[in-house]
Amino acid sequence: MVDSHETIGHLFRQRRRQKKWTQADVAQQIGSKQSQISSFENGNEHALAREKVTALAKLLHISEERLLARPINDKPACGFCTNRHCPTSFPYVRGEVVVFRPTFLKSNRPYCRWCGEPMRYDCSECQAPIEEGLNCTACGAEYLDHVHVDNLDAGNDPETWARQQRKDNAALTTTRRPSEPGQNQPKQPESKEAANHT
Ligand SMILES: [Zn+2]
Ligand SMILES: [Zn+2]
Repeated sequence: MVDSHETIGHLFRQRRRQKKWTQADVAQQIGSKQSQISSFENGNEHALAREKVTALAKLLHISEERLLARPINDKPACGFCTNRHCPTSFPYVRGEVVVFRPTFLKSNRPYCRWCGEPMRYDCSECQAPIEEGLNCTACGAEYLDHVHVDNLDAGNDPETWARQQRKDNAALTTTRRPSEPGQNQPKQPESKEAANHT
């Protein structure tokens, strides 16, 4: 067991008490439930969605540096980077849209170690923990990000764009290896999908 004084939940509780707010007070302000705040403060880092943690941090004047300084969770969880332009994001063309498939990473940091954008560890629809696959196993929401080809700024064929992007990403993720001990490196995407559309 980790000392509860080391968890981020403890820091949030401490700050909330300093401001003389109840759990219900802050829950109302960020639009969540008192039970979720309680669970979060007690060390269940997945009780709140990332956006809620950010909102709560803002409310309690807990800086991003402070959030970054400590793991969001003791144990690495399955998550992905929310930035579609991150090298871990795998673009391919599906009909009229470019689809960005996230690469699943085991991590416990709030921000992507490749690009610095927020990581997502829970479904944006139902807050269920993320598992590998294209959809949330609890509610079926798709993890894929879609962009219509017209909005791509591609300047050329979207298939060419996606292929080039995958190549650049692969080059980036093999040459740049951010160090986070004990973490798996992101898997290289396969280009099966691309072959179907040429
Ligand atoms: Zn990223
Ligand atoms: Zn869901």
